[in-house]
Amino acid sequence: MKIELNNLYHRYDVDVLRELTFTLEGYKSVAIIGVSGSGKSTLLRILSGLETPTGGTVSVNDHDVTAPAYRKSVGFVFQSHNLFPHLTLLENITLVLEKTRGRSKKEARDQACRFLTMLHLGDQVHKLPRNVSGGQAQRAAIARALSVDPEVIFLDEPTSALDPVLTYEVLSAIKELRELGMEFVLVSHVMSFVKEFADYVVFMHDGEIGEHGPPSILDNPQTQAMQDFMAKVP
Ligand code: ADP
Ligand code: MG
Repeated sequence: MKIELNNLYHRYDVDVLRELTFTLEGYKSVAIIGVSGSGKSTLLRILSGLETPTGGTVSVNDHDVTAPAYRKSVGFVFQSHNLFPHLTLLENITLVLEKTRGRSKKEARDQACRFLTMLHLGDQVHKLPRNVSGGQAQRAAIARALSVDPEVIFLDEPTSALDPVLTYEVLSAIKELRELGMEFVLVSHVMSFVKEFADYVVFMHDGEIGEHGPPSILDNPQTQAMQDFMAKVP
């Protein structure tokens, strides 16, 4: 993927992202790390078109992220699964395919089943989100994100609400998708996973990009901020 930030600036009541200018190209799985409040989610939401930046320009694979067509082509997975509670796992996906992709009922169903099977949920498709485990629901949310055929899938701490066993299930599923060639930008605090999954790491600190580089930067942080961060995460 290719990501270009030019003087990206974002402000709520305070400055959240401070004039970021940054380019990366040729990586397939990018991890964003950093302490809580450093601006990771804001950056991810802007990259995925869910939020319009206060200033500057941002493009992903040469698409302007503020273009309406871009948002429709993006897959996003939140901390909690955000599935519709009254719809089955299958219906959560067929709804997207029918409404935003104009697929027929049958096409939508076949495709949704294919994505759910890919996430090892083939035998759970008719269950409501509340009747499956948190890990299964989160995998269904990943299947839903895949269903729009995104160029890049954005994941914001997809396992932060899960216990270690379910975390392992979800992270394994993400790794399998990477093997299939899918591309990701992921915010995660699971450093062991970031190390083996990511081919590029961006460390955010106080609204700025503190350090960035291959995963080996995790073993040898150069700045005090990243040294402090690495000392605190397990
Ligand atoms: P992170 O994901 O690294 O924890 P966020 O991007 O969520 O960081 O938040 C960065 C800063 O922006 C924090 O200080 C947070 O309180 C603030 N912030 C995030 N979202 C909003 C919002 N919708 N309205 C006001 N302030 C926000
Ligand atoms: Mg966050």
